[in-house]
Amino acid sequence: MGTCALYIHFPYCRHKCIYCDFYSITLLKSKKLFIQSLLKEIQLYKSTPPFHMNPFSTLYFGGGTPSLLSPEEFTLIFNTIKTTFQLDSEPEISIEANPGTVLEKNLFAYKKAGINRLTLGVQSFYDGELKTLTRIHSSKEAVKAVHSARQAGFDNLGFDLIFGIPGQSLLSWRETLNKAVDFNPQHISMYGLTYEADTPLTRAAEKGEMIKCDEELERDMYLTGIEFLEKAGYEHYEISNFALPGARSQHNQKYWDGSAYLGVGPSAHSYDGGHRWWNAADVENYINTLTRDQLPVEKKEKLSENQKLEEVILLGLRRVEGLNLAEWKQKSKHDLLQQAEKILNLLGGVETTVPPFISSKTGKLLTIVNQSLCLTREGLLLYDTICEKLLEII
Ligand code: SF4
Repeated sequence: MGTCALYIHFPYCRHKCIYCDFYSITLLKSKKLFIQSLLKEIQLYKSTPPFHMNPFSTLYFGGGTPSLLSPEEFTLIFNTIKTTFQLDSEPEISIEANPGTVLEKNLFAYKKAGINRLTLGVQSFYDGELKTLTRIHSSKEAVKAVHSARQAGFDNLGFDLIFGIPGQSLLSWRETLNKAVDFNPQHISMYGLTYEADTPLTRAAEKGEMIKCDEELERDMYLTGIEFLEKAGYEHYEISNFALPGARSQHNQKYWDGSAYLGVGPSAHSYDGGHRWWNAADVENYINTLTRDQLPVEKKEKLSENQKLEEVILLGLRRVEGLNLAEWKQKSKHDLLQQAEKILNLLGGVETTVPPFISSKTGKLLTIVNQSLCLTREGLLLYDTICEKLLEII
């Protein structure tokens, strides 16, 4: 087993965005106790394989809004990680930042403390769209945060963008993309707005108070985004992710290539190569459990061979490298192409000359490149359906 990834979930936000279903709360009064509990959780994993022996090559502070951590709090957590685990010689250390909470002096201090990658939740450069999403920041604040990040010396900067926002037009989406690439961030993630169960956004849409973006328009926005970013020199390396050469997110790649990862903090998920487990999504429960020196794990399961194979399909097809058919045969003892012939025919057959993520003139959804099964651009739009069909046969 190679190096591992460490995810730290910081469960606080200034305000809960209307569409968000990540676990976070807005009452910050338990923050101090939470940090003490987090340090304890990290230490409780000191002897847990494979994390006790294999170094971490990526650390990712996500949330929630981890930019609400003071540099001193970050350093305290980072020092505990360093004294508990082995780190790779040059680990990627990322933090997500909400442009509405970014203080220039904190960015300098984060950089000095060792953070070398910053992801800004820009989402849109239109104030009206930010308002619809109930984000706490304006477009102007996002621009200011970008300048501050560059001033502080962050040369590995990522933006998160959202398309399919109610009221958003193809023109305003293009403008957001335009402004984004003007800042030359090393990484861009673009996600279609999703209507998760039990969010105020979904309830508003159900009551007719929010008009969903037309499906056809959302599809056009996704395809426009791909073309736009490719033209601007970004490599499309995963369904929703784009990077300048050499700037792929190392952390996300650890998830997609099946590496072991440890998640700490409420709601965080972990995987050790054979089991996965996750913490309860509840700060109070998290703090109380750790006060008793127990891990706040809500559920742990051993993955069956079939579940592991499912993961290989789900993760492989998300990436531009696709699903390696020779490796698949080795792992599953089956020839996926033979097994899947009927299904692949139902899905319209397979290309052999079209590179991954590129449009097939014949409209095929899958292509085989370098012995790997990959999605075409048409296939990117139907990832869920394709996976569903392929999973039926394993
Ligand atoms: S800032 Fe991020 S994590 Fe917090 S509520 Fe908004 S979308 Fe969710």
